[in-house]
Amino acid sequence: MHKNIWPPFTQTATAPEPLHIKSAKGAVLQGLDGKNYLDCISSWWVNVHGHCHPKIAESIAKQASQLDHVLFAGCTHDSALFLAKSLCTLLPASLSRVFYSDNGSTAVEVALKMALQYFQNIGMPERRKILAFQGGYHGDTVGAMSVGAESGFFEPFRGIFFPVHHLPYPATWNDDDAVEAKETGALEALKQYLDTHGATTAAFIVEPLVQGASGMRFCRPEFLNKVLKLVREQEILLVFDEVMTGFGRLGSLFAFEQLDVTPDIICLAKGLTGGFLPLSVTVCGEKIYEAFQGDSFDKAFAHGHSYTANPIACAAGVASLEIFSARPYDAYWQAVEVFHKEQLARLQKAVGNPLKTRARGTIAALTIGEEENYSTTLNPLLKKAFLERGLLIRPLGNVIYLMPPYCTTFAQLEEAYWGIEAVLLSCV
Ligand SMILES: *Cc1c(COP(=O)(O)O)cnc(C)c1O
Repeated sequence: MHKNIWPPFTQTATAPEPLHIKSAKGAVLQGLDGKNYLDCISSWWVNVHGHCHPKIAESIAKQASQLDHVLFAGCTHDSALFLAKSLCTLLPASLSRVFYSDNGSTAVEVALKMALQYFQNIGMPERRKILAFQGGYHGDTVGAMSVGAESGFFEPFRGIFFPVHHLPYPATWNDDDAVEAKETGALEALKQYLDTHGATTAAFIVEPLVQGASGMRFCRPEFLNKVLKLVREQEILLVFDEVMTGFGRLGSLFAFEQLDVTPDIICLAKGLTGGFLPLSVTVCGEKIYEAFQGDSFDKAFAHGHSYTANPIACAAGVASLEIFSARPYDAYWQAVEVFHKEQLARLQKAVGNPLKTRARGTIAALTIGEEENYSTTLNPLLKKAFLERGLLIRPLGNVIYLMPPYCTTFAQLEEAYWGIEAVLLSCV
């Protein structure tokens, strides 16, 4: 390990030397070792169009020589305005106010603070509670950790979280016999919670349809629709954390397109700049925005970051959305889902061991064995074996998943699946 570096989410005492990457193009990373690595996880889910996409690179270069940065309070600039406008044309009309921040965690902090202050501002300060799912992950800052407290990553900080009620989450997979029973139990628990606390709850935050970091845990749309309906009946604000699911991951531009309910607030980050630069947005509707208007500063939203709406990051976002707005991916996303399903079925047969498989849109996942286990000793072996085969696949504990950039060819995907098969046969 380099003596001046402390990498994220890494036990540096036992981790192997990090893979040194010198360049990237499309779905492929070029290592300093002269080898190529297929980026099967979009570099922690941020890359969407492939690495070093020339349109985005060009937009960044142009912006950097025109306006590097300017504060976003009292000043404004074209790239933030263009990005907000293009984003809102892709979102439903009810999501029309864009608040910028820097990353997924801050987008979540903004959403929570917005929801709490909204009720404060409209004279309903009793609405103070936050509801979330067990296993939800919303980022690593303290507010985001509080709502994600049951994701399994934050034990050392348990005492400092604000109280959040965590509902049971009926994670499911292909051929899951128990799904109905789990869903019924979860809905019962929700109803009980709402009976007692519905009127004092401000917001419900959810990763729609797939919980990413806690192990690519899927739920069924029909279940989530029921939950959202019950929660909305109580006038609780619905916050969708689409930091991971946004920008096509689940086969539609946003996950909410596959649900009956649109959120009151949506958080977007990772894919927003195409994977080039850190930037996020928290988007709400006019009803919430209106509640922050007043004659004095008291009702204003006192939140901001030094780099709020950085022009270069926004320029990357504008270029990325231009690529999306030509809608080049609809057929690709569908075809990838079909391919994932075929390949997972093939793997299940080839490996023999029990694998819990699931796929939606561009995400495919399998759990080795019965339970998700983040700290399994299998994990470092898997990572190493994949790298040796030229595959950047970073299982979450014993959950192997693929989340490729949308330039990945089917030949490349097939290569990834052959690699997974070989690794499962040798390691498990
Ligand atoms: C990654 C992620 C976050 C946090 O985003 P950062 O940019 O890493 O802070 C929040 N929510 C979800 C669903 C995520 O996947």
